[in-house]
Amino acid sequence: MSEITGSDIKVRVTMIKHAQFLEINLSLDGWAEVQCDRCLDFLKVDVATETGLYVRFDETSGEDDDGYDVIVLSPNDSELDMTSYLYEFVHLALPVRRVHPEGKCNKDMITRLEQYLVKDTESFQSQER
Ligand SMILES: [Zn+2]
Repeated sequence: MSEITGSDIKVRVTMIKHAQFLEINLSLDGWAEVQCDRCLDFLKVDVATETGLYVRFDETSGEDDDGYDVIVLSPNDSELDMTSYLYEFVHLALPVRRVHPEGKCNKDMITRLEQYLVKDTESFQSQER
C-alpha cells in the first residue's frame, strides 16, 4: 500500500526519437500528502523531479550508464503504459524526512509525546540511583 494519501502532480513527458531507441524525459511538479514523522498528522510535501527512461526494441535491458531504466518493447508494441514508472518516480521523489515546519505539528500529539519523554527520563534517573 502506498504511503501517499493524496496528490496533485503535473507530469511533462518529452519523447526524443533516436535511430535505435526512444528517450523519454519526465518532469514532475506538484505535491503529495504523507504522514508526518513526528506527530502522525498528514502534511503536503513538494514533489519536483526530473527523470527519464529509454525504450529499446531489442533484447538489451537493464540500466543504462546514466542510471536511466531501459524498457524493452516488441517491435509490434504501439503503446507504452507509464503507470508503474510514474508511481515509482513519485515515491522516489518524496523527501526522506517528512515533518511539519517547527511549531506546525499537532499540538495534542506533541504534548503527549513530551509527557512520555519526561517520564522516560525520570524512570531512567531513578534506576541509576
Ligand atoms: Zn507534524
